[in-house]
Amino acid sequence: MENLLYEGKAKKVYKTENPNEVIIYYKDDATAFNGVKKASISNKGILNNKITEILFTKLSEKGIPNHFIKRIDDRSQLCQKVDIVPLEFIVRNYIAGSMSKRLRIKEGTKPDNTIFEICYKKDELGDPLINDHHAVALELCTYEELHRMYSLTNEINEILKDIFDKEGIILVDFKIEFGKNNNGEILLADEISPDTSRLWDKKTLEKLDKDRFRRDLGSIEEAYIEILNRIN
Ligand code: 5GP
Repeated sequence: MENLLYEGKAKKVYKTENPNEVIIYYKDDATAFNGVKKASISNKGILNNKITEILFTKLSEKGIPNHFIKRIDDRSQLCQKVDIVPLEFIVRNYIAGSMSKRLRIKEGTKPDNTIFEICYKKDELGDPLINDHHAVALELCTYEELHRMYSLTNEINEILKDIFDKEGIILVDFKIEFGKNNNGEILLADEISPDTSRLWDKKTLEKLDKDRFRRDLGSIEEAYIEILNRIN
């Protein structure tokens, strides 16, 4: 389609008549381990579009500036056009995934502090973990912008923890991305969904997120539906 601006692993971005707005289309495609593992998960796009709508709407109500304007249909949403800052902000409330593996800490361990990480968004390098000084040296952002993004990330974590906790879900960790709109404002962008977070049932510790795909646990669609139903 001629209006296609960008196609990623899980989403497509289309131009609109308004140069400051884009349509984001959520696909069913799933990838893991930097694209090595691929599959289609039925209805994932529909579920992540709705889950992101709910979470971004709640974040807007709490004053978090973000790109979301409105959901258009089952698979697409209208968003402000932003230039994505090529950094992934990762928050860990519990140890899991790559941190558990890298530092040999048991999954589910709860540290006394909240852990913030940044990764350089670059597929060829496998999105390496970097630090603040690397990000500035690579001219990905300034120290001031980093400070603003960490501060928003911390606020977002507090809001999301509360939303999920009320529904009996532990927010183990998540990844968010920021972008700059045409006024140079930093906005939360991309998505927040079970594709980009680890969500465990508080009582059973059952995984209700993309680890079901990564680790071949099955019932992926059911897990995403469970998340949507609880936060809806
Ligand atoms: P980890 O570093 O343990 O692999 O990931 C930490 C958290 O960030 C997990 O919730 C994971 O889903 C999310 N995350 C990190 N990198 C990516 C990525 O490239 N894509 C997606 N969808 N999520 C990511």
